[in-house]
Amino acid sequence: MAKVRTVLGDIAPADLGVTLTHEHVLIDLSFICDVMAPQEDSLRGLMTRPVTMEMMTLLRRGVRKFNYDDAVLGDTELAAKEVAEYLRFGGRSIIDHSLPGIGRDPAGLAMVSRATGANIVCSTGWYVVASHPSYVKRKSPDELAEIMVRELEVGVGDTGVRAGVIGECACSSPIPFHPEEKKVLRAACRAQKQTGVGFSCHPAYADRKNERYELDSPFAYIELIESEGADVEKFFLSHSDVICHPGFLRDPVGHASKLIERGITLNFDTFGQDHFDDYVFMGARHPSDSERMMVIVELCRRGQEKNVMISQDVCWKHMLKKYGGAGYSHTMEHILPTLRYHGVTEKQIRTMTVGNPKRILSF
Ligand SMILES: [Zn+2]
Repeated sequence: MAKVRTVLGDIAPADLGVTLTHEHVLIDLSFICDVMAPQEDSLRGLMTRPVTMEMMTLLRRGVRKFNYDDAVLGDTELAAKEVAEYLRFGGRSIIDHSLPGIGRDPAGLAMVSRATGANIVCSTGWYVVASHPSYVKRKSPDELAEIMVRELEVGVGDTGVRAGVIGECACSSPIPFHPEEKKVLRAACRAQKQTGVGFSCHPAYADRKNERYELDSPFAYIELIESEGADVEKFFLSHSDVICHPGFLRDPVGHASKLIERGITLNFDTFGQDHFDDYVFMGARHPSDSERMMVIVELCRRGQEKNVMISQDVCWKHMLKKYGGAGYSHTMEHILPTLRYHGVTEKQIRTMTVGNPKRILSF
């Protein structure tokens, strides 16, 4: 019988309910601070200071990601408080997409799940090459797949907690993937094929070093999945919404539609990061929530909601409610009501927030 594997054990797919399909309840993104360390002495001094609300404004407004304290979500009590907010607005389940190298903490997730009653699904895989633990380089795709399968079927290390999904296996530079990232994706495909679980990838669209943009990256991932014989219909593309603005792509809906026609599911998972709106970040402009929603509205009008999911990718302290961010409840509080306002039906909303996550996570 099909089940969904949470950090507290297997549950019936019907018990999943509304699900955020890409979050980080606990994470450590310190490696990004090293990559993005500011040149200015005045700002460098802020890297190692504990975050304050005052600093939050600077970090948010300036689209800065370099403060080590900001980069760590490690307090399970605070995490439980923030997750409880999501439940208060009708949420039920969360995919935690943290991984080895970026602070995955299965035992911590189990504590948060117990404290709140939220279903939390832990992930297996590896993020961008800059975050890979050193052993990844020494291993073959089959050996990496073996680790993933063990984490899915037996447990992560000696925690007794099993992963329930693969991802966000991530790509960075060069586009569409670094050879080590391609190896991880290949391993993810093999582990998916063996177990039947859902899997995701964080795409690379911009090569910052060579100032090159590539909208075809997701098609390269789909080709790899197909060549490995993994299940395209269990694949969800993280951050599908980052290109949802006309300045980057003249026809984001057409692009999204073409990807959906290949059978994959698009994760519109970076809602609530309005501090990025209209700013250039890492060489690309971040779309606003409205621009993301307009693409979803149009996809729903075309009847393509069966391949769309919604989330927020909370992963820095400045995104938590405690620090003035949108928090884990943003989709429930603001995005779904606005989609309804624009004519998305209740049935379509249920498909995107309940039905699709259930299909992806059941195995
Ligand atoms: Zn993420």
